[in-house]
Formats: sequence, C-alpha cells, structure tokens
Amino acid sequence: MTPDRHDLAELEPAELEARLEDTGCERFHARQIYRWIHKGAVTDFGGMTNLSRPLRAQLDSTFVVSTPRIVSDETSTDGTRKLALQLADERRIESVFIPDTPSMTFCISTQVGCAMSCGCCLTGKMGLVRNLTAGEIVGQVRVLAEATGLLDAPFNIVLMGMGEPLHNYDNTMKALRMLHSQHGLAVSPRRVTLSTVGIIPGLERLAREPLMPNLAVSLHATTDEQRTALVPPNRRYPLADLLAACRSFPLKKRNRITFEYVMLDEVNDTPEDARRLVKLLAGIKAKVNLIPLNPAPGIPFSRPSDERVNRFAQFLADRHITVSVRKSRGQDIRAACGQLIVEGGIKKTAAQQMAMLLG
Ligand code: SAH
Repeated sequence: MTPDRHDLAELEPAELEARLEDTGCERFHARQIYRWIHKGAVTDFGGMTNLSRPLRAQLDSTFVVSTPRIVSDETSTDGTRKLALQLADERRIESVFIPDTPSMTFCISTQVGCAMSCGCCLTGKMGLVRNLTAGEIVGQVRVLAEATGLLDAPFNIVLMGMGEPLHNYDNTMKALRMLHSQHGLAVSPRRVTLSTVGIIPGLERLAREPLMPNLAVSLHATTDEQRTALVPPNRRYPLADLLAACRSFPLKKRNRITFEYVMLDEVNDTPEDARRLVKLLAGIKAKVNLIPLNPAPGIPFSRPSDERVNRFAQFLADRHITVSVRKSRGQDIRAACGQLIVEGGIKKTAAQQMAMLLG
C-alpha cells in the first residue's frame, strides 16, 4: 500500500488543512489542493496551476496523491461500462458505470473481495482480501467521473460493488464525507445508496450519522432457515432483529428503505414467499427491488422466468407495496449484480488447492 502518512488522497478537508499547516503551507491552499484533487481529478502537483512553483515543488517532494489506475475498461452492448482498477498495492477492484437516463449511476466497491459469502454472489467466493481505504473509495468515484465526463455533472452512487460497506464502516463513512465536501464533488447523501446484508450494529451506527445515505437491505429470503443459507450473516442477525432495526431506522419524509430480493427459480419466488414478504415488511416504510438472478458458473441457482417474476411483483403491488424489477445491466461483460470479481480472485477450497498441487 501507499505510505499513507504522506498520501493526501486519504484526507478529509480538515485533516488536509492540519497536515499542510504542519509543513508551513497556508491554510487556504488546503482548499485549493482539495479542489484540484477531488473536483478536478488533478493528482499531480505540477498541474495545480494556481499554486506557486516553489509550493508545487515542495508538495511534490513531501506528498503523493494515490489514485486507482484503470487497467481495463469494457463497455456492454447496453452501455454499462465496467472498469477494473488497480490500487497502490496492485490489488484490483471493479467499478461500474450505469448510464440510465436521466440519472447516471456509479456502482462502487468498498472492499477487495467480501467476507459475507452469500450463496448467489461471485464476489463472496473470493473471500475478503482487504478493506478499501476512504481514499480508494473516493478515488473510484473520481476515476469514474473523469472517465465518463461527469466531473461537473450530477450522478448517483450505489455502494453495491464488491464488498459489504457496513463491514468497512469507518472508511465508507469517511469516503461519503469526503465526497460530500463542497470543495470536492459535493455529492449529496440523497444521491448515495448504501446496500448491506444487514449488519445490525452497523445499521445502529448509521442511524446516528449526520450524513445519511439512502439505505438498501439485501433481504433475499423470508425465513431464517433460507436466509441463513443464502446470506450467512443472518445467523448472527436474524430476520426479526434485522426488521426491527429497519422499523426503527430514522427516515426522512417520503424516504423508504429498499429491500433487495434476488429471485432464485423455485427457491424463494413462490406465492408463499411473496405472502411472507408482505407480512415481514408490515409497518416498515419499504419498497422492494426484485433482482432476477444473474446466473454465473459456480452459483447453484437459476433465474426464474419473467412470468414468475411478474407474478411475484404483482402479488406485492396488489398489497400496496412499491415494487420494481431491476434490469440486469452489463451481463455480457460480467458487470451485473453479483458478478464482480477479479481474475484469479476465487478462493480455492483446501481440496481444490490439493488437487492443483497434485495435478
Ligand atoms: N454487500 C452489499 C453490497 C453489494 S450489493 C449487499 O449485499 O447488499 C449487490 C447486490 O446484488 C446485493 O443485493 C446482492 O445480494 C445482489 N446479488 C448478488 N449476487 C447476485 C446475482 N448473482 N444476481 C443478482 N443479484 C445478485
């Protein structure tokens, strides 16, 4: 990793001011530098043209500004774009640009890999490699905004890439503060959606945050038995507790919690599931986002027919639950939900490792 003592990409505006003050640099320069980095995507001090040459030279010899490097950039037939980014320690992550008009959306990763091991998700098969730093999370947004020409335009952010944001709580929230800064991209928290498997202590902390993103919860099942099988953290944070935390989660007027529900053919898409789901969500300001499974090798489920998905959706709609069906985007470049993974990233089982050694 970068020697982050000297990495300005990791600092919030107040931290940047303090750090630069230590080096005898004027305070207002900190704002200019924050702006160059986070709003202008200029990470080379030489390009910070409103600073004096001696100051630029001094900064250059004292600090670095790490930025994820684009190592591949693929565009799907539907316009979805997937970027593989290499970090300072050569680990790789993936970030996705979804150009849905009128709103442009960046799907951002919070970890390299993921520890949650959800049964439908390829990222989970990698295991957790490490948390992303706040600077790396912000850096992804900066790189995507620059690559898509959106540094000066509004966009949405969904924390739905690789990783579990509440399992990397501090860095994720710091990243949101940095993105929100008026000296940077000034991303309103209303434009950010944090998606989680439902780590309850994290939800409780989130409930007290001054900068509150929209909340999405990956539910995926309506009984503890099935949810534990699909979303293993459910063992520790079972449905009743999770839904109680959602019920008491502070929501702004007209805001609702999104419940994501991956639909698995003849597993969790039956009329009984729909009925139980309606009951579970009673008393919660909720909307449901159905995600027909994006199949992948090694994922032991299949995608239900449109007819089954529509029947499920209709059942909810008839009971006055707002429901949408997520369009699958970028499947041809493996950019769809649950398909983000980096080459060589799959954690091999002991038996597979042994087979490789022997074979
Ligand atoms: N860890 C967080 C953030 C990832 S969001 C979370 O789980 O919420 C990614 C969303 O895509 C989650 O709802 C996830 O369950 C869903 N997903 C995972 N694998 C999928 C697949 N194969 N097809 C469709 N959706 C999938």
